[in-house]
Amino acid sequence: MRVVSGIQPTGNLHLGNYLGAIRQWVAMQDQAESLFFLADLHALSQPVVPAQLAQNTVEMAATLLACGIDPSRAILFNQARVPAHSELQWILGGTARMGWLNRMTQWKDKSGKDGASQSTGLFNYPVLQAADVLLYQATHVPVGDDQKQHLELARDIATKFNLDFDTELFVLPEPFISPSAPRIMSLRDGTAKMSKSDPSDASRINLIDSDEAIAQKFRKARTDAEPLPATMAELADRAEARNLVTIYAALEGVGTDTVLARFAGQGFGAFKPALADLAIAVLGPIRERLTRLLDDRAAVAAALEQGAERARALAAPTLKAAQQAVGLQV
Ligand code: ATP
Ligand code: MG
Repeated sequence: MRVVSGIQPTGNLHLGNYLGAIRQWVAMQDQAESLFFLADLHALSQPVVPAQLAQNTVEMAATLLACGIDPSRAILFNQARVPAHSELQWILGGTARMGWLNRMTQWKDKSGKDGASQSTGLFNYPVLQAADVLLYQATHVPVGDDQKQHLELARDIATKFNLDFDTELFVLPEPFISPSAPRIMSLRDGTAKMSKSDPSDASRINLIDSDEAIAQKFRKARTDAEPLPATMAELADRAEARNLVTIYAALEGVGTDTVLARFAGQGFGAFKPALADLAIAVLGPIRERLTRLLDDRAAVAAALEQGAERARALAAPTLKAAQQAVGLQV
C-alpha cells in the first residue's frame, strides 16, 4: 500500500485541520508507505503573494512535523522541488479532455460565472493532482468528500493513457476514506465548518493558540443551557453541543458514547473546563514543538530537501516510462 496526499501551504492551521486531516496522516505513516507534500504548485492556481507563499510553505512543513509527521517514516516534501510533477502534468494534459475538466464541481464553484478570467492553472488543477498520485504509483489516496471527483478523474486519465499508449504503466488509485476523521464545526455556529477563512478568530482553535486562548475560546463557545444526555441521538437538534462532544471524543481518541457516558446529566459549566484541559494537554506539546521549529527554519528546510530527494528517486522511473510511452526522446 502506497499513499500520496497533499495539502496547500496556507497559514494558520486549526483544530479541524488537525483532527480531520493531519492526524490521519500521522496514523497513516505507520500503516503504509506514505508521501506527503505541500502543494505549492497548486497554490499558483490562485493569486499569490510570493513572500507569503514561501513563508507558508516552511511554516506548514513545520506544523506537519510538530503534529508528528516523521521524516524517517514518511516522505515529506514540497511539490516544486520535484519537477516530475510538472513534467508529468504536461504529458497527462494530452490525455485529459476539456469536457472532463469542465464537469468538475470545484472548477464550477471556484470559477463561478466568470470562467474566462480564471487562470488556466485553476482549470488544470485536477490534471496536476492526477500527476501527483500517478507519478508515485499510489495505491490509495486519502480524500474528503470534496476531492472524490478529482480522484475519479485521475483514474479516468490513467485508464485512457494506459489504453491509448498500450501500456499498464499507471496504477489506478483507490480512495481511502478514514473512518475516524471527524468534521469539526465552528465554536460560534454549530452548523458551519471550523475554517481558517472564518473572519471570527473565536470560531476556531488555532494550533498556535496559547493555553489561555484555548481555555477562553471553549469557555465562550456557543452552547445551550441543557445538561448533556446519554446518547448522541438526543443531541440531534443541538449542533453546538454535538460539536463539543465530537471534539472531546476525537481529542481523547474514544467514541462519543464513551464521552457521554462520563458526562451525562452534567451541564457545560462542568464539560467546558474538562474539554479545555484535554485540548491543552493535546495541543500544548504540538505548539511547543512548532514554536521550536519556527525558530530553526534551517532544520525544516533540510527535512524538506531530504524528502524531495527521496521523492525524486521514486518519481523518476514512472516519469521516464511515461515519456517513453508517448515517444519523447529524453
Ligand atoms: P479554507 O477555509 O481556506 O477552505 P480550511 O480551514 O477549510 O480552509 P483547507 O486547507 O481547505 O482548510 O483543508 C485542509 C484539510 O483540512 C483538508 O483535508 C480538509 O478536509 C480538512 N479540514 C478543513 N476544515 C476541517 C474541519 N472543520 N473539520 C475536519 N476537517 C477539516
Ligand atoms: Mg477548505
